[in-house]
Amino acid sequence: MFTPSERIRNVKLSATRRLFDSAPAGSINLGLGEPDFPTPGVVRREAIRVIEQEPTGYTSNAGLPALRERVAAYHSERSRRPYSPGSICVTNGAEEALFAVVMTMCGPGDEVLLPDPGFLAYPALAEIAGSEVRRYRMPASRRFDFDRESFERGLSERTKLVFILSPSNPTGRVISADDLRFIADRLGGTNAYVVSDEIYGELYFDERPPSVAEFYEKTIIISGLSKMMSMTGWRLGWAAGPEEVIGHVTVMHQYISTCASAVSQKAALAAFTEEGRAETALMREELKRRRDVMASAIERDLRLPYVAGEGAFYIMLDVSRLGPSEDIAWRLLDERVITVPGSAFGAEGEGFLRLSYSIKPEQIEEGIRRIKRGIEKAAD
Ligand code: PMP
Repeated sequence: MFTPSERIRNVKLSATRRLFDSAPAGSINLGLGEPDFPTPGVVRREAIRVIEQEPTGYTSNAGLPALRERVAAYHSERSRRPYSPGSICVTNGAEEALFAVVMTMCGPGDEVLLPDPGFLAYPALAEIAGSEVRRYRMPASRRFDFDRESFERGLSERTKLVFILSPSNPTGRVISADDLRFIADRLGGTNAYVVSDEIYGELYFDERPPSVAEFYEKTIIISGLSKMMSMTGWRLGWAAGPEEVIGHVTVMHQYISTCASAVSQKAALAAFTEEGRAETALMREELKRRRDVMASAIERDLRLPYVAGEGAFYIMLDVSRLGPSEDIAWRLLDERVITVPGSAFGAEGEGFLRLSYSIKPEQIEEGIRRIKRGIEKAAD
């Protein structure tokens, strides 16, 4: 019988996969983790031109110099800290950047401090690295706000990496500049690095979310074009941070995948043009409209409490009075609506369903109607 290596033995495919795979035909998918917009024409046209006219072989491991320059300029402006092309490693999506960073920086004996609730890849990566997971609560009772006390309690002298996720998946909440300053102050003088996952950084509805990199030098930013340019399948992400760290991350990345796709990298340059940035602005507007559509539908049809954040494209629906979130998500499949149980993101997410509003407004309305039917049946 095959025995997997120790590092992967206890890591499972996410539980929500099974739920998704069991969804009946014709289901409305409120479980999506990606925008439903087509990739903007400015990027698609450039990709076609590149395929027809340019070399598409390997690029340098860390990515095309021209792209690293654009990404460096983008983060210099966003984080008010100078980034050079040497502080950027372009990867196959943000997911590979997360993997390369965790494997480069953590090992047995180290602690990784994660938000609860938070993106479900983080604990899996820490486990694969052989590190210990600790959590800081973003309490549901306070609309998943950052909680200073819980953060402080999670730190120890063994803390190697601290994950910050703003805007958050699953809550959409943004961490304020004051709280980020607090985090920086608290970590000052320690050896801990921050991994700041800013994959939703361009999808916000009020002020632009601040980056912790502005306040804390030992920060590795994880970002990419998956969400801000609706390019999830193009696999284009990056890590940005101090050159001495990124140099090692690039070695790890070399042995994972050599380089990100040359076609995606060349087309990605178009995302940083004025036309590309305007497309992201349009997505922001449309997502804000959809958030309001979903919030109104919840208020009208469900009358359950919910948390709608300041960014990303998720609403957390409070179903705690109806039963465990996983049971409810399974029951809602009978009504042909897919949701993600909050428990998938950590203990603090229990009692909630993550609803994604990255789909057409008519589908959002219909999805909420189906949830209503499911809830009414459960109450009978
Ligand atoms: N971080 C977070 C918080 C995410 O939600 C996702 C995608 N669901 C990723 C990283 C990975 O993004 P990518 O598709 O670029 O690998």
